[in-house]
Amino acid sequence: MEIAKTIQSVRSLVKAARSKSKKIGLVPTMGALHIGHISLIEAAVKQCDFVVVSIFVNPTQFGPGEDFEKYPRPLDADLKICRKTGVDVVFVPTQEQMYPAENLTWVNVEKLTELLCGQSRPIHFRGVTTVCAKLFNIVAPDVAFFGRKDAQQAIVVRRMAADLNMPLEIVICPTVREPNGLAVSSRNKYLTEEQKKDATLIYKSLQKCREMIDDGTTDSETIIAEMRKILSQAPSIEIEYISIVDAETLHNLDKIAGKALAAVAVQIGPARLIDNILMDASKK
Ligand code: AMP
Repeated sequence: MEIAKTIQSVRSLVKAARSKSKKIGLVPTMGALHIGHISLIEAAVKQCDFVVVSIFVNPTQFGPGEDFEKYPRPLDADLKICRKTGVDVVFVPTQEQMYPAENLTWVNVEKLTELLCGQSRPIHFRGVTTVCAKLFNIVAPDVAFFGRKDAQQAIVVRRMAADLNMPLEIVICPTVREPNGLAVSSRNKYLTEEQKKDATLIYKSLQKCREMIDDGTTDSETIIAEMRKILSQAPSIEIEYISIVDAETLHNLDKIAGKALAAVAVQIGPARLIDNILMDASKK
């Protein structure tokens, strides 16, 4: 496994692989790798011949007062995971490599980024799409892998790639959960054991949503009220939003029919946690 610290070095490694007609896969991450990231790497190893994992805590997607400084950066452990999972190149650029000068050029997907998490994180998705566009230009992958755990991010990145005719496929992989249902996240590290227990209510509320839809409830407001009751069982949970939206446009659905995304964002102690499930109300 190669560790590339510069744009030039990752480009030349990819160029050599491409000259052997290898299919290039990219897994963009911010490190602190866990079983969620590993599932993306495994999908990439399965579907591609040459896998690049990028590890870069991207400053432009963090708002003021967010956790950019304290975001975990356990590089040695991350490299070990990459070695074990069959990664070919880990791209670990410095901030100076990625943003050598004041950034004046931004990639911004409109509308989709103003909803859900975009309401409390107004610059977040612009940072995500800009760094993804840069990574896609640097690595030039055939396929890039994202997790459904960050459903809005995956939808936004896929839209950017389509709108800008980027020559790659975006694959969205299922959310990996702890046995108790909690979606695995680097930010779970911020939680105490007690808060982690409270956090399991997030998935419980999403399961309730699925159950109600399976039982024939179509009114979002009724479902959201039940989800709110579940989340309110833990006083440590501060609800940011509970939304049931169209899985493509992300617009709120009053009545649920067809493909819908139930999405939750909460603050528990120091951690802002998000989770979602995808449902197809037409398939019952
Ligand atoms: P991050 O390092 O948090 O930026 O995440 C890098 C990629 O891993 C993103 O595409 C995430 O959606 C994905 N990811 C994070 N957690 C999970 C999870 N629990 N299951 C599946 N994918 C995940």
